[in-house]
Amino acid sequence: MRWRKLGRSRNVEDRRGTGGSGRGRRGGGGMKVGGIGTIVIVLLGIFFGADLTGLLGGAGNPGISSSGGSVNSGSRNLPANDDTAQFVSAILKTTEDVWTPLFAAAGKNYSPPKLVLFENGVRSACGFTSSAAGPFYCPGDYQAYIDLDFFGELQRMGAGGDFAGAYVLAHEVGHHVQNLLGVSMSVQQRQRQVSKVEANALSVRTELQADCYAGVWAHHAHKQKQLLEPGDLEEGMNAAAKIGDDALMKSAGRVARPESFTHGSSEQRQRWLLKGLETGDPNQCDTFNF
Ligand SMILES: [Zn+2]
Repeated sequence: MRWRKLGRSRNVEDRRGTGGSGRGRRGGGGMKVGGIGTIVIVLLGIFFGADLTGLLGGAGNPGISSSGGSVNSGSRNLPANDDTAQFVSAILKTTEDVWTPLFAAAGKNYSPPKLVLFENGVRSACGFTSSAAGPFYCPGDYQAYIDLDFFGELQRMGAGGDFAGAYVLAHEVGHHVQNLLGVSMSVQQRQRQVSKVEANALSVRTELQADCYAGVWAHHAHKQKQLLEPGDLEEGMNAAAKIGDDALMKSAGRVARPESFTHGSSEQRQRWLLKGLETGDPNQCDTFNF
């Protein structure tokens, strides 16, 4: 990806080094734990963050970006030599540049999410979340959260590459878009009224829509900034396959049971990412009526 010369977002909040064990774990994608067990936890945790939504009442006023009170250190304060932090800041900026006009075209205002960098664990409106749960978006405070060591985990599970990482970020921003559009809340309400199996199916539709929105982002970001290079698309499709529920369950030594899926199969995740990528049209991301 051609990201280095791009602008940086002002919406990255760096909370690293402000708590936790205090171990320095910068650089090289970390290793708090190793081995299959951890990877499995992380794999299952990936994007499960969004499922924390069920714990919440949701909703403040997105227009006022309810993060009031929280400190925004501003991406310009990120260490210049911290490549990964600079990368996520640049990618976050491209999501702002993509979704602002798309919302405007629909007569809506896009209020961008904050992206919080943390280590070990973090407290949010969704409660306390360990790094092992993977990156997540919390609808209750309109913020996305990531431990940058996660990119190392992606690499270890065979889903490396900068575009794979950007896809993860764009997926979390996709959850923010859903939150602004009221999708998150109506899904949560519905999930409380139905069986576990049906609630899982709704979760899958929500996650696939976030994948499709990630594709929409890639479509427009490339159009605006010629962001993609040869091989990037393959990285994204490979990552989507690696984090499909069936792939994750198999790699955890379990039988893939579709009724227990919460994020969609590899094939579904690839298909919706691609649909967003090809069309660039958020209206094509109606995973609730296919
Ligand atoms: Zn998700």
